[in-house]
Parts: sequence; structure tokens; C-alpha cells
Amino acid sequence: PPIIVRDFATALGMKPFKLISELMEMGIFASMNQAIDEPVAIKVGEKHGFQLEIKHRGEAAQQIQQSAKEKAKVKEQAAAEAEVQNLAMRPPVVCILGHVDHGKTSLLDAIRKADVAAGEAGGITQHIGAYQIEHSERKITFLDTPGHAAFTKMRARGADVTDIAVLVVAADDGFMPQTDEALKHAQNAGVTLMVAINKMDVKGANIERVKQQMQERNIAPEDWGGETVTVPVSALKGTGITDLLDMILLQADVLELKANAKTEASGIIIESQIEVGRGPLATVIVQRGTLRVGDSIVCGPNWAKVRAMFDDQGKNIKEAPPSTPVRVIGWSGAPDSGAEFKSVKNAREAENLAEEAEHLIRKNTGTTDAAPKEVSVESLFANIAATQAKTLKLIIKTDVFGSTEAVRNVLENIKSSKVSLEIVSVEVGLVSKTDILLASAAGAVVIGFNTKLENGVTPVAKHHGVRIETYGIIYELADKVRDMMADMLDPDL
Ligand code: GDP
Repeated sequence: PPIIVRDFATALGMKPFKLISELMEMGIFASMNQAIDEPVAIKVGEKHGFQLEIKHRGEAAQQIQQSAKEKAKVKEQAAAEAEVQNLAMRPPVVCILGHVDHGKTSLLDAIRKADVAAGEAGGITQHIGAYQIEHSERKITFLDTPGHAAFTKMRARGADVTDIAVLVVAADDGFMPQTDEALKHAQNAGVTLMVAINKMDVKGANIERVKQQMQERNIAPEDWGGETVTVPVSALKGTGITDLLDMILLQADVLELKANAKTEASGIIIESQIEVGRGPLATVIVQRGTLRVGDSIVCGPNWAKVRAMFDDQGKNIKEAPPSTPVRVIGWSGAPDSGAEFKSVKNAREAENLAEEAEHLIRKNTGTTDAAPKEVSVESLFANIAATQAKTLKLIIKTDVFGSTEAVRNVLENIKSSKVSLEIVSVEVGLVSKTDILLASAAGAVVIGFNTKLENGVTPVAKHHGVRIETYGIIYELADKVRDMMADMLDPDL
């Protein structure tokens, strides 16, 4: 009997998304409703302290052994108690989202400049994907890849690293398409939302209009009787930055962000690259525990004996407690952004675990024939029709930013009263495996405009029954989308 991802996640008490991303780490690309092989299930179960008993005869498909479960529970309880005792406040992790040109990058720069401690240290600012500042003698961590592309990617892997999202809205422009998209992403992620009304210095700045627009979107500002903390700023002149940081700290207090610093470190990869002379580097944010030089960590098929750690000023760091972003040197290979790392006993264990993951990826086994190998357009539409009612969802990838706007405009002009069109995301870049997983989870079709597929995407898409269409001409794209919408209405399907 098949072990379905969704049911298995429930049995283990984890979010399906989390399980999917864990499987990905093992090189297994399975969606919610697909089955995984027994050995894989057993391995995942063990990782979470469960022992799996597969019943081949009899009616029960699989059952989690009761005694093991209870034992695990007792262990968990003891761990939980220790955990509560060791919980301590941790800095908030903040990301900045908003429409292009509304000042995300400028705001990130202004915030960095406002950091007195860093100014005194005289380090050289490096973009490592995240930085930490000190304000009112407290720390705040910022992800400094502006825009929601990075944010979405991490979430697609089940990584929730952000606590607070600051939505930047230019006071002269007001809400724009990407502002709304970013808002949707933040709301879906369930992070705390704040609004920074930027460019207060420009002529034509209209703070009231922005607040009106916020109210229309059910995120009314505090001074309008709503709950959204709203701070007027000018990233260019540096005004309002202190207020913004004060408000972030206040929100952090409300959220009571805590973590246990006295345990083995685990966290999320923010970004990675390979640098000549230093080998693979990865910026990580520690979420639990404290990461130290000399620790052995593993992340999917990659592992590291932490040789050195640096902050965003290029300064050597010996210890990284929760919420600290650090660049780690000593990796066997570059780990994926959004992937989870954890500290293990020693280098040998790290290497073994990484090798196992690598082995699984090589063999690319783990998925059973319960998954559809060839997917017809018909079954796809039937699928969409059955599960998604009458909404055609699209995930769009384009070559350059200008194209994203063009595609968006054309699609927004397609009108149909019976089928609605939902653009799940529009991003610049190659069609990636992450897009396929997102599409599989959302029941969306992937559209590439003037772009190509990353290596290995086609089999993953086939496996997940995700349809990919690529076009080079905008009218063809629009026509095809219209056809797809019409097909969804076909009563024969
Ligand atoms: P991003 O695309 O959201 O990262 O926006 P940028 O930070 O690159 O800013 C886009 C443009 O707006 C740049 O030319 C900035 O100099 C300008 N800009 C950003 N913030 C302000 C501001 O507070 N006031 C004014 N007048 N211009 C700003």
C-alpha cells in the first residue's frame, strides 16, 4: 500500500511542505499526493524519532509502532522541558519587500548606515545575503536580497526564516502590482507585516493616498484604526529610519521571539557560491543553538567542518547564536539556498549523512510507480478542473524584468467571467525545480517566456504532472492561455 506524502506528514506531525523539502534534500521530488518508498519513509521516520512498521499483510497499510511513539514522546517531553528552560530572546529576522524602484535597496543601505557599531568597526561592507545591525543596544537581522524572489524560493522549500516583512511603498507611486504581490506572499507566509512609506521627500508624496490604499486592502494603518505599523521614511535622506528600527524592535517584543541558544545549531542556508581560493561559501542564518568554528554541519549532500565564519563586514566570528547571519567556510560543495542545515556530532557523521543524501540523489530512487510518468494534457486539465474549480493558475518565468511586466499586462487584459486567472508568481530566470514544486503544490501551469529550463527540470515536471509551456512571442502566449482557460470549461473533461 502506498505511503502518501500528505498522510505521512500528518502521522509524523509535520507540515507537508516541510516533509516535501526534507525529501528534496534527499534528492526525492514528491508532491503532496504522491507515494514514497518504504525505505525512504523509514529513514525519514527515524530522523524524527519514529519507528515505522510496515504491514504487508492485513488491512492496515502502515502503522507507527505505538511503543516507539510513546518512547519518542517521553524523550520529546524531556527535551521540550529543557528547551523551555533554555529559551532566550533572539533578534528578529526582517525582509524588505515591495515594487521595483520603490526603494528596497536604498532602504537596506540606509539601515546599514544607521548602524553606529558597524561604522566604528570600519569593516568593509560585503553583501552576503543578510546582515545584522545594532539599534538601541539590540540586534536586528535583515535579509539583504531585496524582492520576494528569494523569499518565495525559501518558502517553497518550507523554510520560514523571516519574522517580519517590511513592505516598502513609494509615497508618490502608491501601491503597484508588485506591491500587491509582495503583500500576498507575506500574508501567505504568515509573517508580521509593517509598511514603510518611502520617498517622503519627493514632490507628489501622498501619504494619505497610501494609507487609503492600505485600508482598501484590509491592512489599515494604526492611526486609521487598523493594526499595521506604518512608518514614513526617506531612504535617500535617511529620515524616519530610527523610527522604523524602533518599531521593528517593538514588533519583535510583541512577537516574543525566542530560541534555545544552548543546543546544537540548526538553521537555513541564505545563499551560497564558490569562490576561488576559499572554495564553497554559504551564508547561513542560525535558528536554534549556537554555531561555532570547528562544528560539523550537514545540509543535504553537502557538509562542512566550519573552518571560519565571517559577518557582513568581513570580520571573523567565532560563535553565532540564534538569528545571526554568518558566512561559513569549509563546505564540501555549495548547498542550496533555503535548505536546512544542522550540526552533528563530528565530521565523520556529517560526511556520512551527506554521502547518504548524495547516494539517494544519484540513484534518484524513492518514488514509486504510483506517480504518473506520462501526463496527458487531458488528465492535467481534469486535475486542474477537479481540484482548483475554475481558476487557471500560472507560474511565469521570463528572461528579463521588462518581459515580466509585458507578460503581466497581456494576461491581465484577458477577461473571462467563467474562469479566473491567477498569477501565482512572475520572476526572472530559468524554469527551475523549485518552480515545478511550487506549481505542483499550487496546481499551476508553468510558463516560460524567452527563457529555458534548468538542467533536469523536465523529468521532475513529468514526475509531478506539472505542465511547462515555453514561448518566445507574447501573442502566442496570450492565445495559448486563452485556449487553456476555454479548455477548462469543456464539460467533457
Ligand atoms: P528598489 O528597486 O526597490 O531596490 O529601489 P532602489 O533602492 O534601487 O531605488 C530606486 C530609485 O529610487 C533610486 O534612484 C533611488 O535613488 C530612489 N530612491 C530610493 N529611496 C528614495 C527616497 O527616499 N527619496 C527619493 N527621492 N528617491 C529615492
